[in-house]
Amino acid sequence: MTGLNATHDPARRSWVESANAAGADFPIQNLPFGVFSQGAGAHRVGVAIGDRILDLTALEASGRLVPSPQERVFADGVLNPFMALPQAIWSETRARIADLLDAEVGGPQGLVTVPLVEATMHLPIFVRSFTDFYASREHASNVGSMFRGPDNALMPNWLHLPVGYNGRASTVVVSGTQIRRPNGQLKAPDVDAPSFGPCRRLDIELEMGAIVGTPSTMGQPVTTAQAYDMIFGYVLLNDWSARDIQVWEYQPLGPFQAKAFATTISPWVVTREALEPFRVPTPERIKPLLPYLEEGSANNFDIHLEIDMAPSGAAPTTISRTNYRHMYFSSAQQLTHHSASGCAMCTGDLLGSGTVSGRTPDSLGSLLEMSWNGRDPIAVAGGTRTFIEDGDTLTLRGWCEGDYRVGFGACAGTILPAVDYGR
Ligand code: MN
Repeated sequence: MTGLNATHDPARRSWVESANAAGADFPIQNLPFGVFSQGAGAHRVGVAIGDRILDLTALEASGRLVPSPQERVFADGVLNPFMALPQAIWSETRARIADLLDAEVGGPQGLVTVPLVEATMHLPIFVRSFTDFYASREHASNVGSMFRGPDNALMPNWLHLPVGYNGRASTVVVSGTQIRRPNGQLKAPDVDAPSFGPCRRLDIELEMGAIVGTPSTMGQPVTTAQAYDMIFGYVLLNDWSARDIQVWEYQPLGPFQAKAFATTISPWVVTREALEPFRVPTPERIKPLLPYLEEGSANNFDIHLEIDMAPSGAAPTTISRTNYRHMYFSSAQQLTHHSASGCAMCTGDLLGSGTVSGRTPDSLGSLLEMSWNGRDPIAVAGGTRTFIEDGDTLTLRGWCEGDYRVGFGACAGTILPAVDYGR
């Protein structure tokens, strides 16, 4: 358990002036890790500070930041080698970076910083495996009552374990990547046979992604306290979903092609340590949990979340405002359950939280819920929508708000038309 330390001190200011502005996403107390390039240059590891990036690959090469005496962990332009180091090294490195960027302690001499607007952001981690959960009671209840009626909204297992499925790591992409509308098998309830064609009920899922830093050993389950500490950081995650493909294919083994075509994450990994001041408990239990899932500490986080939708050429409309704190199972509980059978967890594993929905109609995390499966169009600038149309851009945003803001930046994607099979 990390606890609060000097890196969380709200009085600290950076010599990067933009980091000190009220409401800045990346103040000196945040220090999220990402991977960037400039022009045709190589991928480099950096930390966001205000409107700039501190180049950690350069800092390590110059010998001013040495997370590991054995190897250069920032030389490969991906976070996995650093995330595989002991948790104490994550903290020491964060403290060292905070000192270098501090207006009192540090200074710009000899440090390479790059304007954010001049950088191209890349996938920050090599995604080893992607698992997606279903941990919002509000979301599961909404979807369940839509398809099974309000009396059977939650399946019998739901209050006892974090339901999940193993997704695809190969199609996790960074914010800004264009997403092609999937083709798939579709079958309306009133026809006898399926057809093949473009998804007509393309949706988003507003989620947080937890990134595993410390691996676990096959055959060795981890406790919730160990799981909490194993998580390196968090990103915004859009689990794009083809609802019409999903409804035909999902029984009995769960989502497959409906979720396999794309998952978008935000480029900046906000460390778990940066989120420490914003810890909150999970909501009150409806039914007691089995002991292996009980938590002795507050392992959820108070993260404000928003969804913007913008048809091609139109201004964005904010269509949802919610909060990660509503999640019934924390990511530590999800990771614990994932390892409970003896499943090995790896550096670079990505755990999707499940769609984050609140209790009110303006706090839902999917268009499926907002439009109630296409029945009720929602208003956006430039028209109305039930599901996503070609050219639409969807953007997730997230931030913690306290003495300062810890922002996640944006997680965006624009939909391209489906591949034409020449039907
Ligand atoms: Mn999902």
